[in-house]
Amino acid sequence: MKKLQQILLPWIIIILCLVILFHVYHHNNGKYSESDKGDPLPSNLHPTVEANKNRLIERAAKKNIDVVITEEVRSFKEQNRLYEQGRTRKGNIVTYAKGGESYHNYGLAIDFALENDTGKIIWNIQYDGNGNNQSDWYEVAAIAKELGFEWGGDWNNFKDYPHLQMTFGLSINQLQQGVRPKVD
Ligand SMILES: [Zn+2]
Repeated sequence: MKKLQQILLPWIIIILCLVILFHVYHHNNGKYSESDKGDPLPSNLHPTVEANKNRLIERAAKKNIDVVITEEVRSFKEQNRLYEQGRTRKGNIVTYAKGGESYHNYGLAIDFALENDTGKIIWNIQYDGNGNNQSDWYEVAAIAKELGFEWGGDWNNFKDYPHLQMTFGLSINQLQQGVRPKVD
């Protein structure tokens, strides 16, 4: 009888550990997944971001600058795919954020570019299409900042010139926990 206990006890401990690990894994996995029961992820821009995006396009147009919005909401999956670029896939590194780590994932960021008179997309941040001796790109960034956007071109470590975001004072960590900006 004592022998049987000696054989069974380690197995009972192993099985218990596996059960606990299984639960911990599932709990953490669910925490950041898109199907989390917390506040759902938006498929559209936050209404305030949407309104300011349109204001930005209008105000730039008054300065004879055509702004094109190249990116709005990005799913976690799309974000992870983008993160692979320049790492496990060819191309230049375009982001340092994995799925869930970008304001795009929460409908709080947009990317822009410029368009010239022939409809060509301009990525040159020195381009002066309206001929006022100022970079159109910086003119757009200035308007965006007036509207309350944070501009990726102001970041110190990685300059993301097309990127504009509104954080509403929320960190990525808070957004990952399911906290969302209020919609008024
Ligand atoms: Zn962006």
